[in-house]
Amino acid sequence: MKKVIVIGGGIAGLSAGIYARSSGFDVTILESHSIAGGNCTSWKRKRYLFEGGMHWLSGSSEKDSLHKIWRHVGALDDGVKIHYPEPFIEYIHMGTPVKFYRDVAVTEKHLISLSPKDEKEIKRMCKNIRRVRNLSMPVTDISGVKATKKMHPPITLLFSALSAIYLIKSFSGVSREDYINRFSHEGLRNLIRSCTNDKSGVAPLFFTMGTLARGDGGFPEGGSLPFVERIVKKYTALGGTILYNTRADRVLVENGKATGVMAGGERMPTDAVIISADTMAIDQLFETPPRAVWLDEMHKVTEPTMVVLISLGVDASLKNYPRAFIFKLDKPIVLASETYAYLSVNNYAHDPHYSSEGKTALTIQLGGDTYDFWKKAKEENRYKEEKQKLAEEVIKALAGHISEIDGRIEVCDVATPLTYERYCGNWKGSWMTEMTPTMKMKIYPSAMKGLSGLYFAGQRLMPPGGLPVALLTGRTAVQYLCRDTGTMFISED
Ligand SMILES: Cc1cc2nc3c(=O)[nH]c(=O)nc-3n(C[C@H](O)[C@H](O)[C@H](O)COP(=O)(O)OP(=O)(O)OC[C@H]3O[C@@H](n4cnc5c(N)ncnc54)[C@H](O)[C@@H]3O)c2cc1C
Repeated sequence: MKKVIVIGGGIAGLSAGIYARSSGFDVTILESHSIAGGNCTSWKRKRYLFEGGMHWLSGSSEKDSLHKIWRHVGALDDGVKIHYPEPFIEYIHMGTPVKFYRDVAVTEKHLISLSPKDEKEIKRMCKNIRRVRNLSMPVTDISGVKATKKMHPPITLLFSALSAIYLIKSFSGVSREDYINRFSHEGLRNLIRSCTNDKSGVAPLFFTMGTLARGDGGFPEGGSLPFVERIVKKYTALGGTILYNTRADRVLVENGKATGVMAGGERMPTDAVIISADTMAIDQLFETPPRAVWLDEMHKVTEPTMVVLISLGVDASLKNYPRAFIFKLDKPIVLASETYAYLSVNNYAHDPHYSSEGKTALTIQLGGDTYDFWKKAKEENRYKEEKQKLAEEVIKALAGHISEIDGRIEVCDVATPLTYERYCGNWKGSWMTEMTPTMKMKIYPSAMKGLSGLYFAGQRLMPPGGLPVALLTGRTAVQYLCRDTGTMFISED
């Protein structure tokens, strides 16, 4: 039985571990943290649980091709309830909610009733959502791999892919503000503005709404932690080993072949290494960092998605507020070079996993590249102070809209890009790649020419990344491993 070491026990590493183990390899995952999951995680503070990863899952629906793969790795099964809360998000405009529903027909009707003047443009927007609603991520096999069962993406996916290309092309030259100016209703304009960002434009909104419109993008009950625990259970039941608190320091390369890993001063010999840690941050793992054209390209074009996540434990039930809502700030919050005119709130009052009855866990995400700001604050010993200052500003703004929180905050936790960097070792603490209108939908290889026995998996290998990409790239890395070693890839049933 050939030995494989997987660096990293996030979703990509666990997926690689499961496929490699079921295909007959002797697998050890090295995970630097005390638990698995990487960015797909949540954390407990006092009696609150804060969701720091998954918000919606592509492949939650049985109709989606990814669903089978999530089941194969144990993340989903018949016992896991998936929630599809409606509306998906709402913007509170002068007391009136403007909503995006999962059901595109309901969204269309709702928005037209709010703003009959915008009927034509609302219909166009919903048409664009419908264009891509059948677009799911293709599950395919690499050429030349022997597999127990071949995966063939349905031919209909080709038509959806063509619609997607059309949509990306049509919106590549349209700025977010240009698009928003097509609408007259201030609340609708603000809803679109707050669900998109300047850099990426509006196309990602159609894709997200398209996923929801086909009945996908649900939330598995309990969120990230139990989701990951189920995958780990599957992996260990197959006989895989996972070593926690074990950071891989070096990949050992001899004569153009990966032969082992150094971890905690110990040399661990192996036949192959799969790196699932962020591909943008692999240099430190090598004495001589590997070079490849695709790696240079990745470094040149990758724009990081990062977040400051402010989590609040409130000693009050906020069940009368929506699950996800956005409101405009009276005074924008300025952080580094970012200006936040809106706050987007996830309200877990409706979910007993996140707090006890009568209490509420809230999370607020502030996107944008604030990495250098936090790095400097840390160097100048102002990090804690800056976090506190930001939290106070956010709480004050929130209290203006949710009076119940006034004086009722029991827990306040601020995670910055530095937190994610420390926790997962990701480049700039970034957990996805920003899709910009000019970016090509590039799929990077899972192996490197001239360096045998070394494979890559993880969110960075296919923009925009996220859980589905982590899942699929773990699977693909093992297909390369199987092909190179003449091993049968054991496919999903
Ligand atoms: C706030 C937030 C919200 C999100 N929402 C969603 C969502 O709704 N839907 C969605 O699809 N995605 C979402 N994502 C993105 C998604 O969580 C990530 O893209 C995905 O989990 C990445 O998985 P990965 O395995 O590729 O990488 P990671 O999660 O980064 O895992 C890498 C693992 O490797 C370990 N590691 C790194 N270096 C070493 C080393 N040298 N030795 C040993 N171990 C090492 C790390 O500790 C980590 O466990 C969200 C992320 C965040 C942070």
